[in-house]
Amino acid sequence: AESAPVYPRVLLKLSGEALMGDQGFGLHPPTVNRIALEVKRAHERGIELCLVIGGGNIFRGLSASAQGMDRAQADYMGMLATVMNALGMQSALEGLGIHTRVQSAIPMDTVCEPYIRRRAMRHLEKGRVVIFAAGTGNPYFTTDTAATLRAMEMSCNAIFKGTSVDGIYDSDPKLNPSAQRYDRISYDEVLARNLKVMDASAIALARDNTLPIVVFSLRQEGAMTDVLYGRGRFTVVG
Ligand code: UDP
Repeated sequence: AESAPVYPRVLLKLSGEALMGDQGFGLHPPTVNRIALEVKRAHERGIELCLVIGGGNIFRGLSASAQGMDRAQADYMGMLATVMNALGMQSALEGLGIHTRVQSAIPMDTVCEPYIRRRAMRHLEKGRVVIFAAGTGNPYFTTDTAATLRAMEMSCNAIFKGTSVDGIYDSDPKLNPSAQRYDRISYDEVLARNLKVMDASAIALARDNTLPIVVFSLRQEGAMTDVLYGRGRFTVVG
């Protein structure tokens, strides 16, 4: 029999860009399907999964406000972008036969459920994948912070941050071939060295609640399931 997973309940955080493939914008359905397949692999093992997806592939509040738009208004638009990504991922997962629910921090009853913590818990217990949309529902926050908040609310064992590299390095491995990957690194070191894992408020929130952040590559097939069982290459911030 296979050993028990190290992380039986996790929140997977994806940036919006993870869904756009080689396009410069929006959703690339084959890429969304490929990520959905990774989620399915983990789900088949009985891992309880929540998802938070960013919106940077569609709209970023900060960029729009730098160009003159009111910041709070732009942030609300960014949150709406995350709802589109959530619906796209829901569609891909349902296409693979996985039961899902989208819960939005900004109520949008016609397309998804509102965020209700106890209801989301129940969905997880029933084996549904819950996708949390619209970030925290507040401007001036990010989906990294939303992911950390929801992971704690849902008693997740860790945040899984899916990226294009297999962990955190002491310098950019795409530029420096001798860059060293950390197996483990502290929250404070991530903050002090300004390593780009998640934004600083999300790291601090995770630190204050000792929620591990696991950074791994979404590019390698099957990597997420391996990491859930403690195998393969990844970095734990903890
Ligand atoms: N956003 C927000 N509050 C939140 C989460 C997100 O205002 O709680 C807005 C913000 O404008 C942000 C946009 O939604 O730029 C998209 O989210 P994010 O930048 O976190 O997406 P990612 O970089 O992960 O794709």
